Amino acid sequence: MTAPAKTLSAAEIRAGLVARKFTARELLDDCYARIAAENPRLNAFLALSPERAYAQADRLDGQVARGEPLPPLAGLTLGVKDVLATRGTPTTCGSRILEHYRPPYDATVVERVERAGALIIGKTNCDEFAMGSSNENSAYGAVRNPVAPDRVPGGSSGGSAAAVAAGLVCAALGTDTGGSVRQPGALCGIPAMMPTYGRVSRYGLIAFASSLDRVGPMTRSVSDAAALLGAIAGSDPCDSTSAAVPVPDYAAALTGSVAGLRIGVPREYFGEGMDGEVRARAEAAIAKLESLGCRRVPLEMPHTDYAIATYYLIATAEASSNLARYDGVRYGLRAPADTLAGMYRKTRGAGFGAEVKRRIMLGTYALSAGYYEAYYLKAQKVRTLIARDFQLAFEKCELIVTPTSPIPAFRLGERTADPLAMYLADIYTVTGSLAGVPGISVPCGLTSEGLPVGLQIFGPRFGEDRVLALAHAFERASTAA
Ligand code: GLN
Repeated sequence: MTAPAKTLSAAEIRAGLVARKFTARELLDDCYARIAAENPRLNAFLALSPERAYAQADRLDGQVARGEPLPPLAGLTLGVKDVLATRGTPTTCGSRILEHYRPPYDATVVERVERAGALIIGKTNCDEFAMGSSNENSAYGAVRNPVAPDRVPGGSSGGSAAAVAAGLVCAALGTDTGGSVRQPGALCGIPAMMPTYGRVSRYGLIAFASSLDRVGPMTRSVSDAAALLGAIAGSDPCDSTSAAVPVPDYAAALTGSVAGLRIGVPREYFGEGMDGEVRARAEAAIAKLESLGCRRVPLEMPHTDYAIATYYLIATAEASSNLARYDGVRYGLRAPADTLAGMYRKTRGAGFGAEVKRRIMLGTYALSAGYYEAYYLKAQKVRTLIARDFQLAFEKCELIVTPTSPIPAFRLGERTADPLAMYLADIYTVTGSLAGVPGISVPCGLTSEGLPVGLQIFGPRFGEDRVLALAHAFERASTAA
């Protein structure tokens, strides 16, 4: 192979196949060799699907040999978060309760990326049922941050972020319920995007909190994110919450021109609790956007303070309901006992980890008679107020810019004893999750210790093209500097 596949973009990979610089098989040999060398240290992949990937590579190499046109993501090596169903390949959700589960079908996003030419490399590690911000809640062990191996990669899509940042794969699919695509993207230093709720099908995404869960791309560059989003976006008859909104050409939106855009900077996202270096990098990023011709608009989003409480009530309530299906009868693990109730108890006791149990209990409590109105219903009302903050903000600006995470990657084990401290670190991401708007995290420099910092850009619902355009212009300006 003439070019190192570790740094190629999706477009370069496709062009390289067309020009016969390398074959899809060679790309795979290289990818799996890298995984064999690096994964024992990183623990980013839980399962590999070489048979499936090589079958697809042979199809692509056949198309090249016959001179046929290649699909847009041809040869793109892709990791898939282990909460997305992949036919015949273990799909564990990072949980013991699904340890031996092999879905009989593919998630719509998996089907779509494969149709677009991607090579499905395997399943990436994550926090159990996507509950967490550090990947330390995986039943299959923590993931190491490739930038700083004694630190977490973020979570819950930590395996996806680490796999891309370490160059094991060109891109990965993650899922974001309260920050799980954007925050690990920020902590590992790669672009990572949460599309609008309804933009991408959830069919085959194993549910954590159905009104919040979204699938999004994690990539080496913003243009790759645009390409991958283009492949997975669009309505799906299998998901009634997917929206029948036409999918624009995201690549065409990356014009480089952002002059005149008003970028909102909400005061509430620059308050206490933020690491000083994160603040400095975010401020420098905003100054850079101004130098590109964007106009800074100070904003107030007064319900931001309630976002963590609101998110953790709604997400746990939905989780307690969604996870009721793991009863030892239909899926995965079964711990036999003399009575049905005993079997449920033993199966769920052995199959779920501590964080998942904590959330099932919190959610069940919030939904129970007498507390429903005080907690769940109240949270739904505050959710509407938070969404309204965004609506009003987008009357004053085209895009909103904030840090992605208040802190850079922390040390493994540093926060596991304090779940509340872990929840509080989601402060800047959960707002957009509750509001249903799209958001991306793009790298905006390093701390003095060399840890990546992410800049978050929110757009209005179905404004992914605008979000990507600003992210792309920022990325270009940053790499040119
Ligand atoms: N860290 C948040 C949580 O633990 C978000 C997780 C996610 O987006 N899946 O719920």
